[in-house]
Amino acid sequence: MAIEIANFFLSGYNNANYFERRKAAYLYYIILSAFIFLSIISLGQLYFGLGLLYMSGNIVALTGMVLSVFLFRKGKIGAAGHVLVLGSLVLIVMETIVRDSYSTDPAIRYRVYLDMVALVGVYFIVISFFRDRRVVMFYGGLFTIVLFVHSLVIHHQLYAYPDMRMFVWEHLITVTGGMTAVTAIAMWLLAFMDALAQQNVVYAEQIKMQKDILEKMVEERTHDLQMSNKNLREFAYIVSHDLKEPLRTISGFVTLIRKELDKTGMNDSDINEYINYVTKGTSQMERLISDILTYSKLNVVEKDFYEVDINGVIGEVKSLLAKAIYESEAEIVITNCIHVNGQKALIEQLFQNLLSNAIKYRSADRDLKIVIGSKEEDGMVKYFIRDNGIGIKPEYFETIFKAFRRLHSKVYYEGTGVGLAICKKIIDIHGGDIWVESAEGEGASFWFTLPSVQTAFAASQAVVQAH
Ligand code: ADP
Repeated sequence: MAIEIANFFLSGYNNANYFERRKAAYLYYIILSAFIFLSIISLGQLYFGLGLLYMSGNIVALTGMVLSVFLFRKGKIGAAGHVLVLGSLVLIVMETIVRDSYSTDPAIRYRVYLDMVALVGVYFIVISFFRDRRVVMFYGGLFTIVLFVHSLVIHHQLYAYPDMRMFVWEHLITVTGGMTAVTAIAMWLLAFMDALAQQNVVYAEQIKMQKDILEKMVEERTHDLQMSNKNLREFAYIVSHDLKEPLRTISGFVTLIRKELDKTGMNDSDINEYINYVTKGTSQMERLISDILTYSKLNVVEKDFYEVDINGVIGEVKSLLAKAIYESEAEIVITNCIHVNGQKALIEQLFQNLLSNAIKYRSADRDLKIVIGSKEEDGMVKYFIRDNGIGIKPEYFETIFKAFRRLHSKVYYEGTGVGLAICKKIIDIHGGDIWVESAEGEGASFWFTLPSVQTAFAASQAVVQAH
């Protein structure tokens, strides 16, 4: 029970808005302090034997305060403030009535001043809470009327005593003039607060303007970016079609020249060698063009992810690379292939590049063995493709993922140097990482991470719940 009462008085009001909460906390302190203060006074009155009749005003005010605590706890801050002010007003009125019927002792009556001071204090508090001219005017008017009537009663009762006349006039002037002055000050304070609020509105407008400008800039930039992406797509298209066309013409005519030479019996080994160079050059150029095309297309990929079955992906890649796998007699061991969340076509490209590299950079000294496996880690699926090929020196671990960086001459290994850059871009699109572990002559392990299906599912559920 005691705990419940303590909770009732001590636990505050929870509002998400920081300023509202701070304001409410002030009001709560005021209510509690007034409550404690009045309780002490009431106990004192009981102790001095002034009796319940005299305390009736205090009892009403205390009840009002408990009610305002209750309202406060319910989050009805404005209502709590009204009850607080009205409770104080009732206290003054009732105490005065009781006092008037009790005693005409001027010393006791003088305590009216103290009550007035309390009233004025409460009045100021209310102003800071309601920030509304009508409420201030209402309480200002109400207080002035109550105190004026009270002054008239005092005037009527005490004017008969010549030595009290001065006090009576003083009281009358102080009450009416004082309350009018307080109302005026309150209105001025309100005007000041309004001006402050107005200033805040100006600031808010300025911030909004800046935000609009920024949003417009972002919009323009996005538009520019979309345009440049479109241009890039068009450029890639032109490169793929228009540049490949003359290449096809060259290789077509080179084949014709070779046929004509065969026909005429001019089988010169030098000429044959030159023709081979031309053929090789054109096919290298063709590869380069299609790699650049693939790489540049990755800049404009939309993130449209689905569950991807990696076993299926590897199966398709193996049939694409069937000739190379057959020729290299590669043994491919697949240990564990966890499904991932991503774009199938891109993941296929990734596996194709890494597998074809593992085949291409095999060692002449041993049979090629490639192992593929995966495990789930930190919401991502971590894959590896391990070979027992020629390996890579640690100083090249970073550079090999940059476009056009090759460690070997075309004479030994064909290639464009774009394959791993494409892999890196595909992994970037999926929000993963790619890296290599290797030692020269001892094979290489390419590691990469892709989003797991569970994480993607959890994220999509969170989005659904947020809506
Ligand atoms: P490319 O194979 O066309 O040269 P990549 O970007 O695929 O281009 O690879 C860049 C370089 O990384 C290669 O030139 C090669 O030296 C090295 N590399 C890639 N994969 C392997 C591998 N499995 N083993 C050894 N070296 C590799």
